[in-house]
Amino acid sequence: MVHFVGAGPGAPDLITLRGARLLREADVIIYAGSLVNPELLQLAGPDCRIYNSAEMTLEQVLGVMAAAEQAGQTTVRLHTGDPCLYGAVREQMDALDAVGIAYDDTPGVSSFCGAAAALNAEYTLPGVSQTLIISRQAGRTPVPEKENLAALASHGASMVLFLSAGMLEKVQEGLLQGAFVSSTPAAIVYKATWPEEKIVRCTVGTLAESGRKAGIRSTALILAGDFLQPEYERSRLYDPAFTTGFRKGESK
Ligand code: SAH
Repeated sequence: MVHFVGAGPGAPDLITLRGARLLREADVIIYAGSLVNPELLQLAGPDCRIYNSAEMTLEQVLGVMAAAEQAGQTTVRLHTGDPCLYGAVREQMDALDAVGIAYDDTPGVSSFCGAAAALNAEYTLPGVSQTLIISRQAGRTPVPEKENLAALASHGASMVLFLSAGMLEKVQEGLLQGAFVSSTPAAIVYKATWPEEKIVRCTVGTLAESGRKAGIRSTALILAGDFLQPEYERSRLYDPAFTTGFRKGESK
């Protein structure tokens, strides 16, 4: 059996209880070494064999999983954040299906949640935005043309960009071609929830310059949108005059 597990954004105590239990019980751990906090590997038992997938191809990863399966052992495939975002898990799952190896998936705290926590931000502020767009700037990995940054930014919705901190000029340009203006608030969050976390608050117009000054080129998220400014409407849910399924609103 193979367990895909989300490691969380960095801080080792942000893995789920289930994820931690699976790590403790694993015979084999294959972890995404570029971003998973190695402290999590201390949960592994003394006989556990540990592989760093940053140095492996998909075929090698699958080979390790198949050998463990043959020996009747369990493998944990440990991905950063939540496996469902930029985790390259689907190709592993399809390959396991093809050879009849069973697997399951334990979610984790994605870094976009870690970054919001670092900023004490809420992506979905009433009267500001009720939508979060998660995407990336096209680079060596292409993005479908209909999802180019300017098109996505045309909504003016809250945005989080993964894998793009090394392309801040292009990001800035794309966002400005959309509904964002130079003064729209933005932030770069480097290694959210790690001890070396760095937060750079800026505007869309100063993204590239701010990233350069802070020396951030990777392992960061770019957040942009009016959800980072101080004005919003209060929620209906907790408004005394609003009736919900759980509470009757007071008439004024
Ligand atoms: N599955 C992961 C994303 C993997 S892609 C998740 O859910 O978070 C790798 C990219 O995620 C990095 O280039 C960076 O943009 C972002 N990332 C991962 N961990 C991060 C962290 N702690 N702080 C900021 N960005 C992070």
